[in-house]
Amino acid sequence: MGLQEVLIASGNPKKIREIRGLLAPLSVHVLTSDEVGPLPEVIEDAPTFAGNAAKKARETALATGRWCLADDSGLEVKALDGAPGVLSARFAGEHGDDEANNAKLLSLLEGKAPEQRGARFVCALALADPEGEVTAQFEGTAEGRILDAPRGSGDFGYDPLFLFTEEGHDQTGQGFAELAPEAKSVISHRGRALQKFIHHLAALEVS
Ligand code: IMP
Repeated sequence: MGLQEVLIASGNPKKIREIRGLLAPLSVHVLTSDEVGPLPEVIEDAPTFAGNAAKKARETALATGRWCLADDSGLEVKALDGAPGVLSARFAGEHGDDEANNAKLLSLLEGKAPEQRGARFVCALALADPEGEVTAQFEGTAEGRILDAPRGSGDFGYDPLFLFTEEGHDQTGQGFAELAPEAKSVISHRGRALQKFIHHLAALEVS
């Protein structure tokens, strides 16, 4: 099926680092815009993570003529009816202003007890072939709650405010920003979605 290389349809260096790390052991060659030049500007206006990932994968594949893997991800907070959701990157207005996004999240949850601060990260991945057809989609989630003050030294998005609470893992009770990248990848939404992608490649006998 010709999947020897795949272009990561993202310009976010923190996402690319996580994805590259997880795909490193595979024989599939991972490309980014560093190797292929600027990627098309895709307007993420779908109401779901899966819809946005599919749109990014499709449009980037069509523009580059390559296999593309796109990620759309974000945070869903129960007490906020799933917000920030697909607006995670621009919750406070400006795209990618993590500090303002985190400050807004803290202020919206002010005074709420730990059991009212339940949240999860979601990652949707979409794989498109060089003709722009989405051939597979994967989703991963990680459950936790929102802390009332930042913890840890990681600085990716909402990581400093996210406490991982799923039971039975080495990472249980730790903040995402306290985890080394390898430890985070094992249980993170993106890591879990990528594991499904890796199994898909194995089924296609390209890993
Ligand atoms: P996207 O580039 O539209 O997918 O934006 C995703 C946004 O969700 C990022 O800007 C972060 O705010 C947040 N996000 C997604 N994954 C993570 C993660 O692993 N840690 C922290 N924040 C994340």
